[in-house]
Amino acid sequence: MKIERIEVLPVRLPLKAMSRLSRGVPRTMEEGKRVILVKMTADDGTVGWGEAGPSRRWSAETTHSCYTTIKEYLAPELIGRDPFDIAGLHAVMNTELAPGLDPGQPIAKAALDLAVHDLICRKLGIPLQSWLGAKGRDRIELSYLVSAPDVEGTLGQVQAGLGLGYRAFKVKVGHEPKLDIERVHAALALAKDCVVWVDANQGYTLDEALRAARGFEALGIELFEQPIPMAEFYGMKKLLAATNMTIALDEAAMGLPVVIELIRREAVEALVIKVNKVGGIHYARQLCDLARSAGLGLIGSGLMDAPIGFAASVHLFAAYSIDYPVDLNGPQHIAEDYLKTPYPMEGRFALVPKGPGLGIDIDEAKVKAFALTL
Ligand SMILES: [Mg+2]
Repeated sequence: MKIERIEVLPVRLPLKAMSRLSRGVPRTMEEGKRVILVKMTADDGTVGWGEAGPSRRWSAETTHSCYTTIKEYLAPELIGRDPFDIAGLHAVMNTELAPGLDPGQPIAKAALDLAVHDLICRKLGIPLQSWLGAKGRDRIELSYLVSAPDVEGTLGQVQAGLGLGYRAFKVKVGHEPKLDIERVHAALALAKDCVVWVDANQGYTLDEALRAARGFEALGIELFEQPIPMAEFYGMKKLLAATNMTIALDEAAMGLPVVIELIRREAVEALVIKVNKVGGIHYARQLCDLARSAGLGLIGSGLMDAPIGFAASVHLFAAYSIDYPVDLNGPQHIAEDYLKTPYPMEGRFALVPKGPGLGIDIDEAKVKAFALTL
């Protein structure tokens, strides 16, 4: 079996809400959710779909960089190769685009990785979760993202999430510690008996993070994501010593080599896994195995994923039995998508689709209708 054709199809999906990170709004309503879709066809006609939906305020990849990287550099190198040779395909991609501290444009590489996994699992007639080799869970609890920068907006968003039935809230912080602590205090007052945690997206200095950590811990918060810039290993170790909260690394944990180095330096105790940021399923499963073997906490997340990235993440998180609510907030923000039938949900739980591959069917008429010219 050989990969015969790879089509690269940019789309713009309309948003119903925006989010805000410590660096600002990652995508405006006008921009929408921009996704580079990849349709991979094998020589026997089997098709697999992947996607890249970067956020330029979260990492350095953009819609345009993903498009040109996939189209001009990565896809041509995969034509004619065996889709079951996943490690070989990644070796080819890493030869074309060298990894650095991250896997080297991992979100672009993940689009092709997802398409390959969808394709081979469809060929075998099994769901991706079965390829990953663990029944684990059959559904994953989602959290609601709270990213308003003030107390009033924070209360409004928590109320909206409660109204939709959510029981877990991730509050974006990383602005000014005193105001962030007030916002989290307000969120907790409304979200009684819910899981609440915070994510600074590298927004604090070490001094601010230490102050914020004292405040969050006093409120009973147990999990603090990426408080300081990704390269500050010394600061991470200091934070771990200063708080009883779990410090989870997200932007700092982009790939195996850097996570291994963090383990050696005793500067990590929990990882946030995102399928796209690490270059796809191939590396995400290795990171999950490493985390479990090293006794690290495992948190699931995403980048406001559209359904292809969302489904791939749910298969992975279900295979690894991730019980802590995951921040896959595509359904909270994306108004319309490219699926033939809506993604299977049970309230705040995302089900693992039962069909082969990712288990979702792409409506190519919708892909055309949402087409984006770059
Ligand atoms: Mg995060």
